[in-house]
Amino acid sequence: MKNICRPDNLKSCAACCGLYNVADASESSLGAELRKRSFLFRNVPRNVNDLVNFKQFIACSGSVKIIDPDIHVCEFIGFLDQEERVVGCMLHPDSTGNNGIDFRGLCHYGSMACKSFYCPAWMELPLRIKSIVAASVSDWRNYGLVITDVSFCQSIVGLIEGRISQVLSHEILNDQKVVQTLGDLLMLKDTWPFGSSLRQRRSAYYLKNQFKACSEDDLLRNVLSSLSFTYGVDFTGREFRDLIMAKIDESVDAIRLVAGSN
Ligand code: SF4
Ligand code: SF4
Repeated sequence: MKNICRPDNLKSCAACCGLYNVADASESSLGAELRKRSFLFRNVPRNVNDLVNFKQFIACSGSVKIIDPDIHVCEFIGFLDQEERVVGCMLHPDSTGNNGIDFRGLCHYGSMACKSFYCPAWMELPLRIKSIVAASVSDWRNYGLVITDVSFCQSIVGLIEGRISQVLSHEILNDQKVVQTLGDLLMLKDTWPFGSSLRQRRSAYYLKNQFKACSEDDLLRNVLSSLSFTYGVDFTGREFRDLIMAKIDESVDAIRLVAGSN
């Protein structure tokens, strides 16, 4: 996989554009906001005045409540396709209506920052883990949340690999049951039962070097720390470990079944 920002045409990530830095990152809220922006942006003439007016209109609309004031929530994140599967930059030269012109210089960070930023996952996630996430997390909102959390992804995979005493191979991704159980695990970033009433889903895209290869106990702690950061609630108590390990066991069973049938 060459591009973790957009591994295929079915999903993408826009975490570093501030997508998740909002108090309500539920699917309904984020989806409605992006839908509105994309719809309005279609009719914005591509000139500086109109684009700046659009930016100000979105910024003043008050439709998103920002969590961390140091992370800008860019007004130009939108859906890039009619099917609303791919999120990204509406100022990018390849985005519909821009005729190859790069308008990113008009955003808060400026063009150079947008072009040159690569989150830690680019360098720190091994290729097999990038492939696992891309194959098992199927929608833009979950994909962006998961792929940017290096510690979470490495710890989940580390727990499974520890149980089966081998490194996961790409071949397991050919089995639908395995893919599904891996997806269920990784999407705890959104479906963690103890966080079902919470609207926050914070992205860890700027956190570096969180992962330390270590014992099962440490890996579990990493997973629960990631979930705590995501939801903004402390889930690091021992009582939360059983659920993680039950889901790890489901994946391990599915993987062993595939290994046994080959
Ligand atoms: S947070 Fe990382 S993966 Fe997501 S869009 Fe930015 S650079 Fe790409
Ligand atoms: S202008 Fe920059 S920050 Fe805004 S959506 Fe595009 S790439 Fe992201």
